[in-house]
Amino acid sequence: TKFVYSFTEGKKEMVGLLGGKGSNLAEMTRLGLPVPRGFTISTEACLAYLEEGTLQSELISEIEQQLLELEVVSQKKFDDTVNPLLVSVRSGAKFSMPGMMDTVLNLGMNDVTVETIAVKTANAAFAYDCYRRFIQMFSDVVQGLNKNIFEDELTLYKNKNNYQSDVHMQAEDWKRLTTRYKEIYEAQMGEAFPQDPRAQLSATIEAVFKSWENPRAVTYRRMNNIPHDLGTAVTVQEMVFGNTGMESGTGVAFTRNPATGKAGLFGEFLINAQGEDVVAGIRTPQDISQLAELMPETYAQFLSLAEMLEKHYRDMQDIEFTIEDGQLFMLQTRNGKRTARAAIEIAIAMVDEGVITKEEALNRLTPQMMDQLLHPTFVETELKENKAIIQGLPASPGSASGKVYFTAEDAKRANEAGEKTILLRKETSPEDIEGMAVSEAVVTSHGGMTSHAAVVARGMGSCCVVGCEQLIIDEKQKIARVKDSIIEEGTVISVDGTTGKIYLGHIEKDNPTDESSALGKIISWCKEVATIRVKANAETATEITAAFQFGAEGMGLVRTEHMFFGENRIVEMRKMILSPDSKEKRTALESLKAFQKEDFKTIFRLAKEQHATIRLLDPPLHEFIPTGNEVSKMAAILHISIAEIQQRIASLEENNPMLGHRGCRLAITNPEIYEMQVAAIMEAAIEVTEELGGSVVIEPEIMIPLVSLEAEIVFLKERLLNVIKAVFTEKGKEIPYQIGTMLETPRACLTAGRIGKHVDFISFGTNDLTQLTYGFSRDDIGKFVGDYEREKIIESDPFQHLDEEGVGELVTYAIDRAKAATDKPLSIGICGEVGGDPASIAFLIDKGVHYVSCSPYRVPAAWLTIAQLSL
Ligand code: ADP
Ligand code: MG
Ligand code: MG
Repeated sequence: TKFVYSFTEGKKEMVGLLGGKGSNLAEMTRLGLPVPRGFTISTEACLAYLEEGTLQSELISEIEQQLLELEVVSQKKFDDTVNPLLVSVRSGAKFSMPGMMDTVLNLGMNDVTVETIAVKTANAAFAYDCYRRFIQMFSDVVQGLNKNIFEDELTLYKNKNNYQSDVHMQAEDWKRLTTRYKEIYEAQMGEAFPQDPRAQLSATIEAVFKSWENPRAVTYRRMNNIPHDLGTAVTVQEMVFGNTGMESGTGVAFTRNPATGKAGLFGEFLINAQGEDVVAGIRTPQDISQLAELMPETYAQFLSLAEMLEKHYRDMQDIEFTIEDGQLFMLQTRNGKRTARAAIEIAIAMVDEGVITKEEALNRLTPQMMDQLLHPTFVETELKENKAIIQGLPASPGSASGKVYFTAEDAKRANEAGEKTILLRKETSPEDIEGMAVSEAVVTSHGGMTSHAAVVARGMGSCCVVGCEQLIIDEKQKIARVKDSIIEEGTVISVDGTTGKIYLGHIEKDNPTDESSALGKIISWCKEVATIRVKANAETATEITAAFQFGAEGMGLVRTEHMFFGENRIVEMRKMILSPDSKEKRTALESLKAFQKEDFKTIFRLAKEQHATIRLLDPPLHEFIPTGNEVSKMAAILHISIAEIQQRIASLEENNPMLGHRGCRLAITNPEIYEMQVAAIMEAAIEVTEELGGSVVIEPEIMIPLVSLEAEIVFLKERLLNVIKAVFTEKGKEIPYQIGTMLETPRACLTAGRIGKHVDFISFGTNDLTQLTYGFSRDDIGKFVGDYEREKIIESDPFQHLDEEGVGELVTYAIDRAKAATDKPLSIGICGEVGGDPASIAFLIDKGVHYVSCSPYRVPAAWLTIAQLSL
């Protein structure tokens, strides 16, 4: 097999073999863009190396051959005393893993070539700057020496000489520093810094291969579901230099704004700088628009190449470039990471521009993005009361409050102890990835919008503010200063990733409202292709309004328990439960009915032709009884003694209330409660139908919970039908309605063939069904589910992801039996927590459910999941 490919031999489709970076460098070369020459060692070579533990001789000779070719075309040579060749060694896997694998620049530098380059360029400062960078990168990437050793040495040198910044470093200074660096290397490694470029090269290639298995890379892959058996490619490329002087520079740019999606170049650059300087956040870079003023021709060329790349790849590009003495070089392009908001804006813009189809647009989004878009923001009025203490760059939107930690490990530890954390650092690096992942927000004092912190946070969809220059951080002392405030470890701050402002203390968050028509547009595209529908679990006017705003097609679960709470209602409810006087009980029931009827009218007015599935009272009565000093108050209202009321309360107590006298069981003992609710529902439906002038006929769906037996349904249905008949007679008007049941006990699923005969719809209550199938208490599973997952006894929490093997089997069985039991069309839905879970939805579609119902904020993600599965 061939292991090494020149840029002229590859193309973008070879991404699996050459990695993202290598295949795109080849593609840009193929398109005729100015790309420094080079070659890529394939991912297969990496896998072979990881298996064997050494570079095989075939590979070594292929590399040698490519190297010779590169020497010929570049007219430069390793170790040459006239025209020395310097290269970069770059890693690149199939999926972009920002900052995971390291790059070595200026390879080929040694004591001789540095002098040659110094003479040749008449720029000794430049030559020694390159050499010291190489020593540092080689030591870090290949030998694992902490780069801080070298950074500290540079700082020490500048301090001793009273230099404010690197600009003051002269040739002699860099030269002396380089000598120090070599001494440090020798002291640490017990051998001199390697002088042979070929030895430098093979050591670096091996190090890049090995870095595929470093813990940071493994963590990143785990977090992003990237397979571990892909390997990384290694690209070897002739160096171009952004650090030769004021006509040179290096930068990173996106073809559209990665935070908002707005069209137009967005990026940063640094004059007289090399490689990682921009991303590492060592100096704060300039906005790309300023390049237009400094180097108008180069800027124009870059702009047109950027536009061309976006058209070619049909997606927003993230481009790295370097300018050497006014000449532009393209060093990388890839589809840019973006926030959820930007992803949606860009997808829509590209459909409008005719670049991609609606289907492609939907496939470029993820359910997580839909969720992210609905992230909460700080309450406006609260924000006004707080004065921001810091203003940084808004790198990734969202808002977060939490306790400050200065290292990733501390943040991780605090998070494990249950704290909400904010990671505060000078700049972040790949070692910080886990601390970043668990933190509510990341804040850095250095760096720009394309710094490591910014890129990683946007990818994770978490809140991030960078470049807070006013913030003086002392990571060792675990303290930061801003003007006259001091932030210590544990101080609570609030971070606004949308404005870049940071506040002391905790700030309340608002529920996000959807003002973006973009979300609405995406949802409407989803609806066009979706094969099943999405409803919402919602009961209050606010929830229902939100649900419709997010595209719900009706309510799959309207819980009614809340209608019994509230100041006046609870008293009536308690009268009904506890009064010894049957007349008083009846009056109480009448007033409850009046309250509920109003509630149902509100629901029907909002829902109109969309159906609302109303679940009759589910919890045990015990949940409504008075406690504490409410007990004596209630006794007074009922004119009974405290002893008497306490006795009645005690009689309602149960050892296992969730397995107890609740749902339809309660209604069989006390049919009057469901009769009251059904009368209220039907009267409300008729009255709202009349209100709407007959333009819409309300068709209520009445759902009976916790059924296990056919006979329960038969018993209750007969009574409810009588109530409905009575309402029709009294009102002199009939409307359509449906009566159905929740399937949420294993027995109900097993006897769905019998139950199905009596109902118009079934809806799986997967929360109770999971609880009863496992015998796991929903409220207590937290105590052990972590251990179960760690020990791989279960793959995931079955209350979050449907347990396909067990609960899923019951669902499948019940659907088949219920359908076979009736000739009428039977509507089948899901209203448990898993109704909003993308993985579970895939399974449920397959089993033939007609809709899922989930909380309002999960509706958009559910639509997208369904649309993608339907395409
Ligand atoms: P990463 O995957 O971390 O982005 P890269 O391989 O892209 O690492 O290298 C980082 C930076 O190093 C690039 O953005 C570029 O500025 C610089 N660089 C890499 N190769 C070269 C080269 N041949 N000439 C000049 N600069 C280079
Ligand atoms: Mg890097
Ligand atoms: Mg790069």
